[in-house]
Amino acid sequence: MGRRAPSSTSSPELRRKRTAAPAPEPPTPRRFRSMADVMRRSRPVGAPPPVARAREEAAYDALLCDTCGSGDRDDELLICDRCDRGRHTFCLRPIAAKVPIGPWFCPDCAPPAKPVKGFPMKQTKIVDFFRIQKDDQDGVPAKCRLSQDVRRRRKRSLVMHKKRRRILPFVPTEDRARRLKQMASLATALTSSKTEFSNELTYMPNMAPRSSNQARLEDGGMQVLPKEDKETIELCRTMQQRGECPPLLVVFDSHEGFTVQADADIKDMTFIAEYVGDVDYLENRANDDCDCIMTLLLTADPSQRLVICPDKRGNISRFISGINNHTPDGKKKQNVKCVRYDIDAESHVLLVACRDIACGEKLYYDYNGYEHAYPTHHFL
Ligand SMILES: [Zn+2]
Ligand SMILES: [Zn+2]
Repeated sequence: MGRRAPSSTSSPELRRKRTAAPAPEPPTPRRFRSMADVMRRSRPVGAPPPVARAREEAAYDALLCDTCGSGDRDDELLICDRCDRGRHTFCLRPIAAKVPIGPWFCPDCAPPAKPVKGFPMKQTKIVDFFRIQKDDQDGVPAKCRLSQDVRRRRKRSLVMHKKRRRILPFVPTEDRARRLKQMASLATALTSSKTEFSNELTYMPNMAPRSSNQARLEDGGMQVLPKEDKETIELCRTMQQRGECPPLLVVFDSHEGFTVQADADIKDMTFIAEYVGDVDYLENRANDDCDCIMTLLLTADPSQRLVICPDKRGNISRFISGINNHTPDGKKKQNVKCVRYDIDAESHVLLVACRDIACGEKLYYDYNGYEHAYPTHHFL
């Protein structure tokens, strides 16, 4: 059992357990909180901050986080099962979703993760993997024909800028070899996560049916994606079907797991990806250990709440890191926002750049918790 710092009632037992801890397994990279945890902590817009919980136990009072040096927020301070030093769940990279099930080892003690097997850099394999539509003539994906479209659109959007900030289509890298490299990096990440590529929400038997995704059921209402923005999202989908992916690279390192970085400069308000995966009822997943569950619909009736689970099917969005939105430091890193929209009466989660992102920068989005469900900057 991974240990939390404060519980003095459980710590003696846990201490005993530590000595009997089995040999360390390679850690599973975890990014986000469990949905149950998110729901428990979230509060409506404008609600007063929760009253700070008093420190109840003294057992681990002296424990400090090895990363930030603070002993605060001890309910989120994990203790390494080997060296006994502490780390906040939110100071880990990736952030730990919750107290891990089974023993937990800090980054210094954890065995190196298994090497990642790279996806072959072969165009035919990549075309098949992403089910890219082939040109009629030569059987290779269409070149950047849509780039013209993108430029035209961008000009027009500048005119509209004063009225309302519109979502911009991503600009694919012109160099096809570079695009192949970007796609191979995503294929590598998906393959080693045993995730099938899918660029849209999926509805599987025995999970929530498509008819359950009704944006009008959102408690408090959901903003409708404006027509122009909807066209932009459709343009991006079409581009991707032709192998014109957003200029992003999925990179792996043994401490952080898979992360996503910009492979070109990306402008503020650029569409990055839709958060996709299997749609399921939150109550089916409340205790799920999946590290990348995302809120889709927050209904007044808890049994009708929906989440997106990209553990079996998904796209690049599941590899983008979520920040801890409760600290100023986390907020500073954020360069992508996660917004839910009513599109054709269904809820969708879009990831959009919230500032200019430089080539090489890592992408971080604000976790789509309840407190950020209703951004108002889009409203007139
Ligand atoms: Zn810390
Ligand atoms: Zn350790």
